Amino acid sequence: MTIPQFFSVANLYKEYKNGENICIAVNCANFDIKKGDFIVIMGASGSGKSTLLQLLAGLKNPTKGEVFYKGENIYEWNAKKRAVFRGKEIGFVFQDGNLLDELTVYGNVILSGYLYQKSERAEERAEKWLKCLGIYKEKDKYPNEISGGQRQRAAIARALINLPEILFLDEPTGSLDTVSGEKVLELLTVLNKKGQTIVMVTHDKNAANRGNRIFRISDGCVLEETV
Ligand code: ADP
Ligand code: MG
Repeated sequence: MTIPQFFSVANLYKEYKNGENICIAVNCANFDIKKGDFIVIMGASGSGKSTLLQLLAGLKNPTKGEVFYKGENIYEWNAKKRAVFRGKEIGFVFQDGNLLDELTVYGNVILSGYLYQKSERAEERAEKWLKCLGIYKEKDKYPNEISGGQRQRAAIARALINLPEILFLDEPTGSLDTVSGEKVLELLTVLNKKGQTIVMVTHDKNAANRGNRIFRISDGCVLEETV
């Protein structure tokens, strides 16, 4: 029996129709993600980075092509199975963090932890990640009472609460000053060294050397850089 590959995409293609105009956001991407990878996806604004990341995470339907997770095409699953995949198998950090303003940092982090049982209770997992990301002291504050860097770290803690197989991040340092940005990148490096698989989109050149693989995207075409 062959063991199915961890994660791969085949001929992945996404176009948007704006009236008469067709915009090809992702043009025939083919690559795999191995466990333990830290993939950095770089490209100019509008090159298709966010679309690609959302397609990998099951958040958007491709026009054509496949996304395989452990041998199964996630876009052949029904909505319920795909929701479980998003909640349990992957973590996603949106560009602006996307925390819920009416919940505290703790509330934001623990919410999705309650949805899925793991060997550790949600409370223990929340505490562990808040401490690991250095925002435990801020746990009872609301998103508008903390800094951008702290919000980003809270969003990462929330994405990690269900111990995802892959952590996806869309420009996690995009809205941060250099020092806070470096802190977030350092944290991701530590997580990756502990085994966390990471796929990060950025247009920050300084962030590129954090990854073990670099993908360049230009007008939707994805090319892996050879190192
Ligand atoms: P990036 O994240 O690299 O800035 P995006 O994936 O957001 O790129 O966008 C890629 C292209 O697709 C851009 O030309 C953008 O205008 C277009 N696009 C993105 N989202 C939509 C949408 N929902 N509807 C129509 N066009 C879109
Ligand atoms: Mg984007």
